[in-house]
Amino acid sequence: MSLANTSHPGRPGPDELVPSRYALRVGEIDVLVVSDGVLPIPAPVLATNADPAVLTAWLDDMFLPPDMLEWPLNVVVVRSGGRTILIDAGLGVEFPDFPRAGRLALRLEAAGIDLASVTDVVLTHMHMDHVGGLLADGVRGRLRPDLRVHLAAAEAEFWASPDFSRASMPPPIPDVLRRAAKRFLNEYYSQLRPFETEYEVAPGVVVRRTGGHTPGHSVVRLASGGDRLTFAGDAVFQVAFDHPDWYNGFEHDPEEAARVRVRLLRELAATREPLVATHLSFPSVCHVAVAGDVFRWVPAVWDY
Ligand SMILES: [Zn+2]
Repeated sequence: MSLANTSHPGRPGPDELVPSRYALRVGEIDVLVVSDGVLPIPAPVLATNADPAVLTAWLDDMFLPPDMLEWPLNVVVVRSGGRTILIDAGLGVEFPDFPRAGRLALRLEAAGIDLASVTDVVLTHMHMDHVGGLLADGVRGRLRPDLRVHLAAAEAEFWASPDFSRASMPPPIPDVLRRAAKRFLNEYYSQLRPFETEYEVAPGVVVRRTGGHTPGHSVVRLASGGDRLTFAGDAVFQVAFDHPDWYNGFEHDPEEAARVRVRLLRELAATREPLVATHLSFPSVCHVAVAGDVFRWVPAVWDY
């Protein structure tokens, strides 16, 4: 399995055996899902309100390890109306213990996407696995001076004095998240374009605040012609299809996060529109179906 993570020996980095990018179209909108890699996450974080034995049984059912999981980390690039929009930015290199994430810059380059061509960044929220890529060495200098960074006003406000009292993250994660968010706000302050509830970044590309995971957590809804697609950020995790009411340790308001999740999954099941999410297995393009009281994850066909 490790072959898939290895570049060709003797060739420069961008030439990976698995390019880890997946393109699709939503009407007139071009969408590229890019994997930032995978990051390790302790299994108990997936379900802080579940009986540990039930979580262990679920992991076993899903052929997942019982202790540490490799969590997928997806970023999306959208092109619409002459704008190139980066939705989230991956982990970056701030966290030395996560060597298999932080690949975004390399993979954008391999996809022929110059950072200088990015006109807008949309952030679903300010956890480090979503903003860290903007803090990696040399990235800011390669981005345009007139870059616009869109995020919910509530998110920027929250991280001025963040509340971790209802989250359950293992140390030193809370401190690392605080530091990364602070650095991000300092470095990108002049480029922030905060919105209250929603904002149309480009034709058919609307970012909408949901709250829950963080107070300003947002999703991105794409619509063009008759086509639709939703990028759910951290509103939906893999475990959510079977156990939408399980709390994730990274959620700052777990009850609200569960309400947001169930509402979104019900809507996507009703409209049959495709879903992409940060931590679903790459390329994460899928549909949502109702299965009794819970949901079913239906991966889309890889059509290349
Ligand atoms: Zn995340």
